[in-house]
Amino acid sequence: MSRKNRLLEGIPASPGIVIGLAHVLTQEGQVSTRLLYTREEVQAELERFNRAVDQTEEEITRLRQEIAPDLKEHAHILELHLLILRDRMLLQETQKLIKEQNFNAERALYQAFLKIKEVFQRIGDKHIRGRIQDVEAVYRRLLGHLTGRTASKLFEFPEPVIIVARDLSPMETTHMTSSQVMGFITERGGKTSHTAIIAHSLEIPAVVGLDSATLEIEPGEEVIINGLTGRVIVNPDDAMRRSYQVRKEEFETFKLEVTQGSALPAVTSDGHPSRVLANIELPEEVSLAHKYGADGVGLYRTEFLYLRQRQLPTEEELFQNYRQVVEAMGPREVTIRTLDIGGDKFLSPLEYAPEMNPALGLRAIRFCLKEQRIFRTQLKAILRASAFGQVRIMFPLISSPRELHEARLLLESVKGELNREGIAFASKVSVGAMIEVPAAVTLADLLTREADFFSIGTNDLIQYALAIDRGNKSVADMYEPLHPAVMRMVQDVVQVSRKAGIRVAMCGEMAGDPLYIPVLLGLGVEEFSMNPTSIPVVKRVIRMTSLDEAQEIARQALELATVEEVNDYVSREMDHRFPDIFRFGRPLATNRVP
Ligand code: PEP
Ligand code: MG
Repeated sequence: MSRKNRLLEGIPASPGIVIGLAHVLTQEGQVSTRLLYTREEVQAELERFNRAVDQTEEEITRLRQEIAPDLKEHAHILELHLLILRDRMLLQETQKLIKEQNFNAERALYQAFLKIKEVFQRIGDKHIRGRIQDVEAVYRRLLGHLTGRTASKLFEFPEPVIIVARDLSPMETTHMTSSQVMGFITERGGKTSHTAIIAHSLEIPAVVGLDSATLEIEPGEEVIINGLTGRVIVNPDDAMRRSYQVRKEEFETFKLEVTQGSALPAVTSDGHPSRVLANIELPEEVSLAHKYGADGVGLYRTEFLYLRQRQLPTEEELFQNYRQVVEAMGPREVTIRTLDIGGDKFLSPLEYAPEMNPALGLRAIRFCLKEQRIFRTQLKAILRASAFGQVRIMFPLISSPRELHEARLLLESVKGELNREGIAFASKVSVGAMIEVPAAVTLADLLTREADFFSIGTNDLIQYALAIDRGNKSVADMYEPLHPAVMRMVQDVVQVSRKAGIRVAMCGEMAGDPLYIPVLLGLGVEEFSMNPTSIPVVKRVIRMTSLDEAQEIARQALELATVEEVNDYVSREMDHRFPDIFRFGRPLATNRVP
């Protein structure tokens, strides 16, 4: 058996300590490689493969038919996929390998795919070479039909395990439940990647960005995950296991104690009230928001209904989903963010052409303004839900007043449609802009003309301001919430909002990290929206800080020229003021610089 107490270090993504057995997912590991022995077996395998081809064809054809006439580009891609599916190199080659090499269908298909990949790699034309992505998309779809494996089945185990994977998509992560997955480790990802955010809201401890994890950890090995520090211990000896068991209990006791104060209001020690709201991704999280004392939902990320299933959701499905959240949260307000697809979240059913740089591509409001049919359906569903409680609408990734104006025009047009149909919606629905692109900070004064409120999305704002990909582990240590440029941007947005008399919140992960709360209070932020599990500790920090002190901390931090100085200063202040909170390293938050 391999060495005891092997220490690996990654990026802490979701707090908590767990000890369990590793279940390693590798791409190859997901393809079973059985050999066939009898002629009957070969025949049955060929039939199974042909059935999967038919099912894949039906699926792509159906998706093709569901596409709106104006989405020509996507229709072309699906037509191309149909051609690839029936191409000799994929179809006949797989059948040949089953017949002649006695490979099972999955293995034969994989070999055929690898062969095509090699051919593509030799092609000089970059554009044609890039089409291997389409072959891969067809291969994956076909494999899905062969194995009957859907994301929800990926995580069904008789006993809870620790998942070790190269990468997990946000959608795969939503299928995890803490009764089956105790924790997970991935090789890719950064602390504000959507996979990390979801793990946090599901309260599943996680470490991401751990190089070679799937090679270093063997299936069935015992593993300790410390989601507070990013440390992973493989094959612990008794002493190590005991020491982590103690730490785990201490942390859980601390968490429980902090949670007990979660219903208390978020008022500074000198009486200034703030609002602490929840970020949610799924309706099930509303109960967490209540449990941890949220004053409302400051960010409902609505992507997952689009990512979880193969077809686009219908207006009715969306409406039911939003109504459920709005009613369950009532009478508190719910801020529904319109579709933010793209970046590290992809709209799989439509098979959009892969982009070179998705974070700078057709994402969020840009996508919605282009695909207006999809957008209108969502707006209609949100407006209908507004008749059942307090709803606000928020547009992501606004980078110019024109975009905000166009989005508002569409909203008005959808209201007109509802009026004509005699369908009820609230007479006043506030409309906000997310401030997450530097251009929006610079033009914030102009945006206040058409925005009823702002919400600063620091996950993206930091990414775009510092040019640091939020999901890339190689630059994760440069992702700095306390960068002087970021602090100045926050200050500017707060000042502009105050002048215009509109509310301003912060809803990026920075707002849920206790380390940053006094600085943010001092910069004038009064609304914080975060992962529900972070609410109790953030409220505690707010209650133990006076506005005067916070303003002094912010003032001193703003005078420092480098982020290293700011980090040193703020960490020292916080360790000194809140020794109980910071003794675990990374307390109940995902965002502290490791
Ligand atoms: C953000 O960018 O800070 C944000 C809250 O949005 P998301 O993380 O969904 O991009
Ligand atoms: Mg964002």
